[in-house]
Amino acid sequence: MEAKYWYNILPDLPEGFPPYMKPDGSPVKAEEMEVLFAKELVRQELSQDKWIPIPDEVREVYSIWRPTPLRRALRLERALKTPARIYYKYEGASPPGSHKPNTSVAQLYYVSKEGVGRVTTETGAGQWGSAVAFAAQFFGVRATIYMVRVSYKQKPLRRILMELWGADVAPSPSDRTKVGRKYLESDPDHPGSLGIAISEAIEDAVTTGSKYVLGSVLNHVLMHQTVIGLEALEQMKGLDEYPDYVVGACGGGSSFSGLYWPFYYEKVSKKAPKDVQFLAAEPAAVPTLTKGTYMYDFGDTAGLTPLVKMHTLGHTMVPPPIHAGGLRYHGCAPTLSILVKHGVVKARAYDQVSVFEAAKLFANTEGFVPAPETAHAVRAVVDLALEAKEKGEERVILFNFSGHGLLDLSAYDEYLSGRLQPYVYPDEEIRRNIEAVREKVRI
Ligand SMILES: *Cc1c(COP(=O)(O)O)cnc(C)c1O
Repeated sequence: MEAKYWYNILPDLPEGFPPYMKPDGSPVKAEEMEVLFAKELVRQELSQDKWIPIPDEVREVYSIWRPTPLRRALRLERALKTPARIYYKYEGASPPGSHKPNTSVAQLYYVSKEGVGRVTTETGAGQWGSAVAFAAQFFGVRATIYMVRVSYKQKPLRRILMELWGADVAPSPSDRTKVGRKYLESDPDHPGSLGIAISEAIEDAVTTGSKYVLGSVLNHVLMHQTVIGLEALEQMKGLDEYPDYVVGACGGGSSFSGLYWPFYYEKVSKKAPKDVQFLAAEPAAVPTLTKGTYMYDFGDTAGLTPLVKMHTLGHTMVPPPIHAGGLRYHGCAPTLSILVKHGVVKARAYDQVSVFEAAKLFANTEGFVPAPETAHAVRAVVDLALEAKEKGEERVILFNFSGHGLLDLSAYDEYLSGRLQPYVYPDEEIRRNIEAVREKVRI
């Protein structure tokens, strides 16, 4: 049941993968990527091999919490009085409480094997940072984590978790980098952003010979997450079930891709017994897939990263302060964008009040408290189940329970007390952001 290979979607995409580009219009070379990332990860990023073996050392760490449970949400079904059968893959079972260590463990393993002693990364509310800290200690690598300053101050629990696991956590902007000092000069109490934290982590890695690790968007990251879908496929088959719908929340797209890619593989290789559909759930405050433009754009706010062809709301966009910090990203995985463009993956956007409403229903019926990010998938699933009731359809729905929300209870407190804002990103601002990208990016 434990996966021995990761599945790589690149050879099965309906069109060639658009290369990462420099602003001058030339493609980024593998050697250039190796300045930032471990060599093996760059090889995986560009690989056309469909199956990539999972090293024993990585599988050994996975075995602490993998395989994760696949559960049926029977009580939720009863509460909704739906003929749909709802299943969820419980990724909250990992020590950091989300799917993210599926890739941090793999990345830190390759970094340590290449003899690198330290990694840098950024984190918003701390999900990715805690997954990196957790993995780094297993492989004897030091981790420096730039944490967005507002979260550092307002959400200390994940910072404490990172420090407990041995990481060095700096509030970003920090005085450790040129970029950080620039922002601190303009405002000594700058709240920071994910974009600034990425710029700091990259500058730190490049100037000190460390490596940088990223928690979503890139091909190798999504590929490491396919252990989720490969296990789910077997678990569903063991129950004599097969999904009509595979659903996940989408920030950069890694947890959703980890679940749906193996089902996509079955679909394109004509092994799927049903015409399975794929649905991504995103915030109306950051409607990348439903309202973004498919074009080349930068991955960070400052424009330091290569250009990536993806659905984007414009890299200068500042996402509203919704609680699902992991979904506050202006772009998404380029592989997901291709499949949205081809209509293979559909997307829906939800405001956070309706999202927490569904999350509360889930907590009241199934007990588990979803992370605010995960709650977006729960909302989409509840809607699909209600549609099934209206149509009298016996749908089978599978979704990724990407993480638990036990360190996000202050968000639930806001919801319960009626203080939660719905937030919908205005179309007019999206147009302005995209125009700004068009002026700056000429490819
Ligand atoms: C980070 C995060 C997400 C969003 O990131 P993806 O790359 O889209 O998966 C979703 N759920 C949880 C619990 C997260 O921590």
